[in-house]
Amino acid sequence: MTVTNNDDKRLACAREALTQYMLEKRCRKTPERYALLEAAYTIGEQFTVDTLQKFVEKKLPLSRVTVYNNLELFVKAGLVVKHPTPGLVKYEICYAKKTHHKLLCTVCGSTTEFLDDAISDFLMQKRFKKFHSTNCSVTIFGICSRCQAKINRERKKLNKQNKKTK
Ligand SMILES: [Zn+2]
Repeated sequence: MTVTNNDDKRLACAREALTQYMLEKRCRKTPERYALLEAAYTIGEQFTVDTLQKFVEKKLPLSRVTVYNNLELFVKAGLVVKHPTPGLVKYEICYAKKTHHKLLCTVCGSTTEFLDDAISDFLMQKRFKKFHSTNCSVTIFGICSRCQAKINRERKKLNKQNKKTK
């Protein structure tokens, strides 16, 4: 697995956010927590409690309960999200993850995803009262080109009919 500078930056941000969260909640800043967070960010894809436990096993033998409790703490801190799949709970990192923004057509409801770091950076720099933001996703509403073409065709048709009736 290759770790790029971008991944380093994400992990650094996540570590900082974890420190912040633990200070706020007065939790203990144990080295296991940071090791687990680092492991979760290194895996980079969806994982289970068992996958994470196996991943850190050699360096850090932790019980399943400890791994689970820490993951739940990461979820509360907004660093990890939980995917409830039938019979198996999967976790995934979410903090400072490349987020997709959306273009939503208000006529047909279709969505197109796009990436724009400038939008994300701008919004993540904002400070909100009594709210700690961990991620963002923007939806831009509008009309897709297919619907716009349809509207134009119908408009032309109406214009023609109007001319005929005159
Ligand atoms: Zn549309």
